[in-house]
Amino acid sequence: MKKAKLVSVINKLSGFYGIPFNRETNSPGILEILIGTKLSQNTTDKSSFRAYTNLRERFPSWEDVCEADTEEIKECIKVCGLAKTKSENIKKMLTEMKNNYGNLDLSFLKKYDDENIYEELLKYDGIGVKTISCVLMFAMQRDAFPVDTHVHRVLNRLGIVSANTAEKTFEKTKDIIPKGRKYELHSNLIKFGRNICKAKNPLCGACFLYSECGFIDKKIYSKSSAGKKTGNNNFIILENI
Ligand code: SF4
Repeated sequence: MKKAKLVSVINKLSGFYGIPFNRETNSPGILEILIGTKLSQNTTDKSSFRAYTNLRERFPSWEDVCEADTEEIKECIKVCGLAKTKSENIKKMLTEMKNNYGNLDLSFLKKYDDENIYEELLKYDGIGVKTISCVLMFAMQRDAFPVDTHVHRVLNRLGIVSANTAEKTFEKTKDIIPKGRKYELHSNLIKFGRNICKAKNPLCGACFLYSECGFIDKKIYSKSSAGKKTGNNNFIILENI
C-alpha cells in the first residue's frame, strides 16, 4: 500500500520536475562530496557552492587544505556562514584521514560494499548516515537514498512514513523505493520541499500532490496559500561540484 503510494508520488514528482540523471562520467570524488556536504550545512546550496569554488580556487589539492591554517580556510568559505566551525571541522577531518590512510586518496573505498563504507566513514566525527549516503549516490553512483530535512518532512507529511527523525525515515524508506529510482526521488523531493512543501507555510493550495497527502493541516494551508506562486529554487550543490 505504502509502496504503491510511493511509486505514484515518484511518478508525479518526475512528471513535474523531470527525471534527473546521475552523472556516470566526471563524477566528483569522495572528498569533494564530503566537503561539499559540510559546507552546505545550515545555509543555501548557492552560498555553499560559492564557498566550495573559493576553496578549490585557493588550494590546488585537498592535501593543501589539510596543511593550511584554519584561518585561511575560514577566509575562503566565509560566504557560507558558520565559517569558523566548518573550517575547523574540515581541517580536523582531513588531518584524521591523512593520519589513518597515509594520504587523502579515498578511492580505495570504491571497492567496498555499501555496508563497509558506512562502517568506515561513521568512524569520523561529523560524518553521519545522510552524508555517507550522499557519497554513495553522488561519488559512486550507488542506489543510495540520503534523507535530509526536506526529504524527511515531505515523506512524513505525505504519510508514506511516520518517523520523528531523518535517520528513522531513512531506515523505513530505503528498502521500499523501487530499484534505480532513489536518485530521482531524492533530487525531486528536495526541489518539492524547498518550493512547495516548505517547512513553514507549505503551499498546499498549489500542490500537485494534494490528493496523496495525509498532512492534517493541509486544508488550512490550502486556503492561506491559494493563488500563491511556487518557487524555483532548484540548485543542488552536490549535483554541481
Ligand atoms: S498538500 Fe501541503 S503538506 Fe501535503 S505535500 Fe502538498 S504542500 Fe506538502
